[in-house]
Amino acid sequence: MEEFVGFCIDRDTCVGCGLCVEMAPDFFAMGEFHARVTKQPQNEEDLALLMDIRRDCPVGAILLKKSSEET
Ligand code: SF4
Repeated sequence: MEEFVGFCIDRDTCVGCGLCVEMAPDFFAMGEFHARVTKQPQNEEDLALLMDIRRDCPVGAILLKKSSEET
């Protein structure tokens, strides 16, 4: 069975709008052109927040990594 292991940013898709960084600066930071994940969720509350942001990303660039996927 697949298990959630974390979030990552698809750098080819991210347009650098900054929404995720604005909504959760503890978990995302802005690079020169793209956001990056700086911390993975530590509890259910964090996970719910990041799932909301993932849904709100205008281009769907916040991806879920699963244990069955290659990193
Ligand atoms: S919300 Fe999406 S498009 Fe905007 S910076 Fe974050 S990952 Fe990139």
